[in-house]
Amino acid sequence: MATQVVGRKMYLAGKWVKRDRVIEVRDPQDNSIIDTVPAASEEDMLQCIEEAKEGARIAASMPVHKRMEIINKAADYIEANIEKFARTIAREGSKTIREAIKEVHRCIQTLRISAEEARRIHGETIPFDQMPGSENRVGYYYRFPIGIIGAITPFNDPLNLVAHKVGPAIASGNAIIVKPSTLTPLSALLLAEAFDEAGLPPKVLSVITGYGSEIGDILVTHPAIRMISFTGGIEAGEEIIRKAGLKKISMELGSNSPVIVLEDADLDEAVESTVSGAFWAAGQNCIGVQRIYVQESIMDAFQKKFLERTNQYRVGDKQSELTDMGPLITEEEAIRVENLVNEAIEKGAVLLTGGKRIGAFYWPTVLTNVPEDCRIAREEIFGPVVLLYPVRDLDTAIEKANSVDYGLQAGIFTNNVRKAYKAIEKMNVGGIMINDSSDYRIDAMPFGGVKKSGLGREGIKFAIHEMTEPKVVCFKL
Ligand code: NAD
Repeated sequence: MATQVVGRKMYLAGKWVKRDRVIEVRDPQDNSIIDTVPAASEEDMLQCIEEAKEGARIAASMPVHKRMEIINKAADYIEANIEKFARTIAREGSKTIREAIKEVHRCIQTLRISAEEARRIHGETIPFDQMPGSENRVGYYYRFPIGIIGAITPFNDPLNLVAHKVGPAIASGNAIIVKPSTLTPLSALLLAEAFDEAGLPPKVLSVITGYGSEIGDILVTHPAIRMISFTGGIEAGEEIIRKAGLKKISMELGSNSPVIVLEDADLDEAVESTVSGAFWAAGQNCIGVQRIYVQESIMDAFQKKFLERTNQYRVGDKQSELTDMGPLITEEEAIRVENLVNEAIEKGAVLLTGGKRIGAFYWPTVLTNVPEDCRIAREEIFGPVVLLYPVRDLDTAIEKANSVDYGLQAGIFTNNVRKAYKAIEKMNVGGIMINDSSDYRIDAMPFGGVKKSGLGREGIKFAIHEMTEPKVVCFKL
């Protein structure tokens, strides 16, 4: 599809600005240049932070009904331009058009829920008279916005994961500066366009396109930034935590999610759900299914059906409605995944299907007999590769599922309520889905992980909690 490269502007404190130095945005499926965005400088970021100080005052003084009106108008704008938003995601990102349309609908939901939650930022009264000597005092606490939030976002959900930070920030009366992934900045800029059209006052929101290595440190270390809300990989996350200093931190990091399938489960349901969970967005999904523990008695039947369903996947042109899976985000990423699989095969893993790469495309791949000392058995693959393990019983499955450094979400397929409850209690994760894969999520639920999967929770109400602080008020009568 030919696109005219117009050279996009970035959104700096309510103004659309160009810069001479640019970043090329490419379509991963053929490496063609779609557009360019400014490569922001340190000065741009510093200017943006200065303007955001005023933006934070403006945001905090905006009445709740106005915040709700603006966020809903931004959602209306996206709703009226679904095709434009979806095509952008499916061009700069690696999602197929069907996956991209779903992301746009999720983003609209995220914003509408944000508008709703704005009216529920409550405090409570405090019974001060519980303390002898405090009988003549009354008071309460309310939640106030913290100021300026720095948001750093990844490539894999280039619109909705940005909305998960911008919606709650504006709903709670904060200013926010977004630094989107350099691979997928266009969707984040479209979100800024939606808020601009909706009448958001200037300086409350900025979307600054630039390299993390060049402008990341300024955002992360600046004392005026009161919170860093980061979604991305563990390496960048740990580096940011080391540098950030005294500010709030929210970390949504990676995982290698487990799903357990017990012998009493509905097999067809388990297969359909885990195949989709493994290969959604070509496996570039923080809650994507990576490890499936199947009870031995049904392993053969599960494996057969799983492979049948996987082999039906149509890999190809992202813009076609018929395509089930597109490419990885870059050819380097596809090569990284290929190397992880090849290392496992050399160490004795059995390749059941897939293992093929052309450019940035890597075919849906299923492995079994994967030795514990392979990187793929412990690290996040972030690609369309799934590992099948036969297990004797539920206890073994839980022990193996927990034996990694990550803990974002998990799934279990069973019709036995006691077994499901045991998994709920024993699995070390931020969310567990019964009779769904680890990939199930709605935007209103608390979302986040334990261990190396992160700190804090997103999901609008929970993000708002992290983006506000309680202020105690006490009247002595
Ligand atoms: P990444 O860590 O490479 O990059 C994420 C963002 O951080 C990008 O905007 C990048 O430019 C920026 N960045 C990198 N180094 C930085 C630094 N030192 N200072 C400031 N900014 C820096 O991640 P990615 O490859 O874009 O995304 C994939 C990762 O994101 C996976 O690990 C995935 O599991 C994780 N992820 C987590 C969630 C979640 O909600 N838990 C959701 C989606 C993706």
